[in-house]
Amino acid sequence: TERLKSGLAKTRDKLGKQLAGLFGGGKIDDELYEELEAVLLTSDMGMDATSHLLRDVRERVSLKGLKDASELKGALKEALVELIQPLEQPLQTHGKKPYVIMLAGVNGAGKTTSIGKLAKYFQSQGKSVLLAAGDTFRAAAREQLIAWGERNNVTVIAQQSGDAAAVCYDAMQAAMARGIDIVIADTAGRLPTQLHLMEEIKKVKRVIQKAIPDAPHEVVLVLDANIGQNAINQVVAFDEALGLTGLILTKLDGTAKGGVIAGIAKQHPVPLRFIGVGEGIDDLRPFSTRDFVDALFD
Ligand code: GDP
Repeated sequence: TERLKSGLAKTRDKLGKQLAGLFGGGKIDDELYEELEAVLLTSDMGMDATSHLLRDVRERVSLKGLKDASELKGALKEALVELIQPLEQPLQTHGKKPYVIMLAGVNGAGKTTSIGKLAKYFQSQGKSVLLAAGDTFRAAAREQLIAWGERNNVTVIAQQSGDAAAVCYDAMQAAMARGIDIVIADTAGRLPTQLHLMEEIKKVKRVIQKAIPDAPHEVVLVLDANIGQNAINQVVAFDEALGLTGLILTKLDGTAKGGVIAGIAKQHPVPLRFIGVGEGIDDLRPFSTRDFVDALFD
């Protein structure tokens, strides 16, 4: 939790300190609620989540007959936990072999880095991992993945030329032939507005399905937390195109916009499988509501 706290230092600094100011003392009154609203909005959770939390906090305050501002913290923590708890659904990979994970996201979101961290995470659980170098737009991405695989003893399926769907199809065949536990398919970065590229990634998904009928078992959107409120638009667009089953929110360590998690929970909830709080291999963690809220407030 210490590591998580330092990873969330920027969000803590901004949100936590401003809140601490509010909870310092005095009466709970309309002015305090207005200040609370302003503080919540600066954390990028958006209007919907902010209004929801305020309503919920007011209810808790009146139900419990709270009077003092210092008691507001507990009410806010409870409201926040209740709002984002539905996002906490750790990835379960048992029961499918191979279990196929497909990643999507815009350029620079942290896909390649997250693949490395995920591969290590699964290896540490004793599972075999195979990577599909489905980012066929950037030769460097393929080379990066191959080099990483060699260093870490992970098989990488790649093609000199060819399209992403073909690479992924090959990877599914290879994984079945070798009895691999987990397949992670990388894909090229793309914006939801690049319609031809969105068609291409839909095709990748269809071809994976053709190789293994119930795959991909997990379709993850990787999001950079720095984009704040925009993350919600990306979740909506990628979900519509691909049917998302999970999210990875990266770079929470570099931003004060951690409140976006509450925005996603309110506006378009998709399970938040992992959060990235640094560049180190252990800095991708399964999302825990309790740990997250505690790290923000305590
Ligand atoms: P891709 O284009 O989606 O594959 O993005 P990359 O995996 O290449 O990541 C882009 C940059 O973000 C790299 O410099 C990564 O080291 C960095 N990065 C990814 N995840 C995190 C994170 O959780 N925290 C920090 N600080 N940097 C990250």
